[in-house]
Amino acid sequence: MIIAHQVADVRQAVREARRGDHAVGCVPTMGALHAGHESLIQACREECGFTAVTIFVNPKQFGPAEDFARYPRPLEDDLAHCRSAGVDLVFVPTVEALYPTGFSTYVDVEPLSRVLEGAARPGHFRGVATVVLKLLNIVQPDRAYFGQKDFQQQLLVRKMCREFDLPVEIRTCPTVREPDGLALSSRNRYLNADERQTALSLHRSLQLAAERLQHGERDVRAVAGEMRRLLETAGTRPDYAVVADLESLEELATPRQKMVALVAAHVGRTRLIDNLPITIEPRP
Ligand code: AMP
Repeated sequence: MIIAHQVADVRQAVREARRGDHAVGCVPTMGALHAGHESLIQACREECGFTAVTIFVNPKQFGPAEDFARYPRPLEDDLAHCRSAGVDLVFVPTVEALYPTGFSTYVDVEPLSRVLEGAARPGHFRGVATVVLKLLNIVQPDRAYFGQKDFQQQLLVRKMCREFDLPVEIRTCPTVREPDGLALSSRNRYLNADERQTALSLHRSLQLAAERLQHGERDVRAVAGEMRRLLETAGTRPDYAVVADLESLEELATPRQKMVALVAAHVGRTRLIDNLPITIEPRP
């Protein structure tokens, strides 16, 4: 497994892989790898002869009051995970390698970057889109793999790639959950035992929305209100709890055949997000 810290080393490794006629896949991460990341790596390995994982805690996607400094960085464990998962290349850039002094070019994917996560975390998606564009330009993969767990992020990345004509296919992989429903997240390691129990309310609120809508409830805003109450009663501080259009993420008032429920809530000092696509069968 190649461990690269510099852009030039990544480019050379990818060039050699292409000479061997391998399709190149890329899995961008912030490290603290878990089974969710591993599922993306597996999907990549199934479709690509060469799998590149990037590990970079991107300062530009964290707000000033957010957890950039305390975000976990267990690099040795992450490299061991990658090695045993059969990764070919891990790119671990320094902040200076990606953002040299004077860096000032940014990508804004509007209006998607301003709603939900974007409204709760101003500047977040500008940081995400900018770093993803850079990583895709550095690795130049045939395919890149993202998790449905970050639903808005994968929508935004898809739109950016489409509108900038990037020659990359974006794959979205299903959310990996603990047996009790908690979506895996690097931030789950901040939770103590009580908070972990409380955090189950995110998935419960999404299931509640799915049940109500699948049983014929037509008032989508009332469903969103119930989601929010469930989150509050469990002891979280929700940023949003909505049922939205699958593409624009506009909040819905009446149900569609396909939609997505999304939540973000603070559990103690930890902010968690989750979502659930919902399909309702057309009535005969
Ligand atoms: P992160 O390291 O949190 O930036 O995540 C890197 C990639 O892994 C993103 O595309 C995430 O959507 C994806 N991911 C994170 N958690 C999960 C999960 N529980 N299931 C599937 N994919 C995930």
